[in-house]
Amino acid sequence: MMEFCLQIGDESQESCELSFSLLSILKKSFTYVLQRFGNKESEPFIPFLGMSSEEVGKLASFFDLTLDSPQRGNLGAYLGCLEEHKMLVEFFLRYRNRDGEISLWVAHLLATASLGENHLWQDMGLQNRAELGFLLRSLFFPLFSANKQDMRWKRFFYRKLCEEEGIFVCKAPNCKDCSDRPICFGPE
Ligand code: SF4
Repeated sequence: MMEFCLQIGDESQESCELSFSLLSILKKSFTYVLQRFGNKESEPFIPFLGMSSEEVGKLASFFDLTLDSPQRGNLGAYLGCLEEHKMLVEFFLRYRNRDGEISLWVAHLLATASLGENHLWQDMGLQNRAELGFLLRSLFFPLFSANKQDMRWKRFFYRKLCEEEGIFVCKAPNCKDCSDRPICFGPE
């Protein structure tokens, strides 16, 4: 596949290092997740990926997205998952390849979709798991490379998060002997 760089406004330095294919996957995913988690039917409801209006404005401008303004939904449900969402954002930020606005936005994208009920690639509006792998490898390589046993991504994130916090929610001390193994591994 031919790869080339985009140069867009003030973000030229950062975007030039991102391939066109990655940028188009990100645009597709931001469009999907903003809509999927940002309307009154959404469960959970997470308006604008949990970002400030200023930050989401920059994201929309960069990717040329049209936003519903404001996003409306069940604010009580949003407050109920706010702490978990913030914890996930901070988790992803610890594993990004480098600082910058794009990885900040993608951390919010991943955190939001992680709270959905389907496989992560599905909740991100991606075509398949391989697209998600490409995105993680490109922007969150330390996290991507740590999933050596190829666990399902949401399971892997939560397991790592719990390990970091010193909390052990798994049913067994290791995956080999665990009855939940089919849930954590297998096709995604
Ligand atoms: S297979 Fe069991 S031990 Fe391994 S991550 Fe899943 S729940 Fe935890």
